[in-house]
Amino acid sequence: MAQEYTTSSIHAHNDYVHPIPFLTAYYSQVGSIEADVFLRNGELYVAHEEKEITTDHTLDKLYLKPLAEKIAFHNGAVYAKAKTLNLLIDLKTEGIPTLQSLVRKLKKYPAITGCQSLTITISGSVPVPDQWKLFPDYIHFDGRPTVAYTTEQLRRISIISDDFKKYTSWNGKGTLTAPDLKKITAVIDNVHSLGKRIRFWATPDLVNAWITLQKLNVDYIGTDHVTALASFIEKEPHDVFQNTVSHAVHKPVVAAESVQVKNVILLIGDGMGLTQLYAGYTANQGKLNLFTIPTIGLSVTASADSYITDSAAGATAMATGQKTSNRAIGVDASGKILTPITDILHQYNYKTAVISCGDITDATPAAFYGHVIDREFNEKIAADFLTSPVDILLGGGVTHFTTRKDGSNLFPALQQKGYTVSNNLQSLDSIRSDKYIVLDNAAARSMKQGRGNFLSASLQKALSTFTDKKSQFFIMAEGAQIDYGGHANNMEYVVREMLDFDEAIGKAMAYVDAHPETLLIITADHETGGLTLLDGDLQKGYVHGNFSTQDHTAVMVPVFAYGSGAKDFAGVYQNTAIFDKIIKALRINQTSAPRN
Ligand SMILES: [Zn+2]
Repeated sequence: MAQEYTTSSIHAHNDYVHPIPFLTAYYSQVGSIEADVFLRNGELYVAHEEKEITTDHTLDKLYLKPLAEKIAFHNGAVYAKAKTLNLLIDLKTEGIPTLQSLVRKLKKYPAITGCQSLTITISGSVPVPDQWKLFPDYIHFDGRPTVAYTTEQLRRISIISDDFKKYTSWNGKGTLTAPDLKKITAVIDNVHSLGKRIRFWATPDLVNAWITLQKLNVDYIGTDHVTALASFIEKEPHDVFQNTVSHAVHKPVVAAESVQVKNVILLIGDGMGLTQLYAGYTANQGKLNLFTIPTIGLSVTASADSYITDSAAGATAMATGQKTSNRAIGVDASGKILTPITDILHQYNYKTAVISCGDITDATPAAFYGHVIDREFNEKIAADFLTSPVDILLGGGVTHFTTRKDGSNLFPALQQKGYTVSNNLQSLDSIRSDKYIVLDNAAARSMKQGRGNFLSASLQKALSTFTDKKSQFFIMAEGAQIDYGGHANNMEYVVREMLDFDEAIGKAMAYVDAHPETLLIITADHETGGLTLLDGDLQKGYVHGNFSTQDHTAVMVPVFAYGSGAKDFAGVYQNTAIFDKIIKALRINQTSAPRN
């Protein structure tokens, strides 16, 4: 995208047909407003067709008076901020007399004719260029790309316009044909070579067309949907991301399906829907570890009390195999405690780990050890860890353990239970025991804030701990902040977190290839942001999306399974089935395990 687009790039076409002429466009801070005028009985009326003229729709009333007020209000400037405005007056009646009438009228508005940030451009029945010198210097003209102007005439031209239909019959959907693209690009480059701005009228007026016109580098995008285009352009900086660092992906080794599963790695991308995946794939220049995994299923995420789940109910479903209500963690809708898979597997001598690049007492990790009716009870969740058999806990949220409202610090009690505890990530590498808790808020920074490779490193640490101890294990690691990016409607945030999560997936896949008795499952608890992808470039690693909500959505989420037992994860099923499928893969006979 050659130039930065702001609302100053908007041309409010046929502005006067809007319920509130002038002001709607003005308050959207557009760069150009068009008014069609007819000279009748010495008065200038604003209308699209002569038959639509009404006595109160004069240029004076609809444009000149409110404009003069705004200029007076902003001490001579057209906008508060250093923005410019082009008032394009399209002469619908004979050029010379209509323009002469306009000049007479403008004599009453010195604030307008003297305003440096306002340009008055004449279009439509423009007098021939030789006659332009007859008019005051503040009158500019709308040129045509096919006309050869003198230098003096060029000086009076503020914009060059043409009919888009002359170049293409494209309806704004899909892409321009190559010949049309070539023609249009040529005329734009030609006008830019004259140092002039260009706009086309009769352009398709929809999102895909706006994106295409931006990529063509036009200077003004004409629209009848001013507020929609303004919000589209204002959101754009958050909707686009140009990635600069792509990561290589792991080359998967086909795992032996028949090996009895002994270890399970469950990676949860919080808020990771299919579009988040494809945005990551695009930004990583057409490659993702995740896309090299052949077995895919779809998980239905609705909770016990809501069409759209939250992370609490979503994670509880996967951790316990039971649906519960939103906000509830490790309990059912009535508050009855549900046994998480970590507790069940502990009874079968599995080592377990819970890792998150967010607050470790947040909903998703908490579902693997906590039991609260409301996810906001972070300190209660932290205290629940005292009775959990989980061996390794890594992430942020240390204050819920060490600097609690009740004045207590849980670390000494956890040390009593045999844990090595630390609030400093740097200590992770030096830990030699197989029971440790490292909680450091550095783990909960975003990738943009410099979290670094915490997720991959902590996953590999837990893997090497359990492997060195020859323990069969279950590890849940959460890519927590894809969700944060979705809630923030910020594409860069989503993509950076998605790519970090994918790097951890690559590490897990490499582990599975070296340890075929390991089953790797990658899924999400829900999609966040209602993300759609509007544009992208796989070569450049550029992606442009659109968020339809700041919250979760109901769409199914993907489940990727790799390694022995993976094939069981194909198909469409409830999120609770992920628990059942893991239990089945490990051949755990739950009836033997007491469930309180
Ligand atoms: Zn969320």
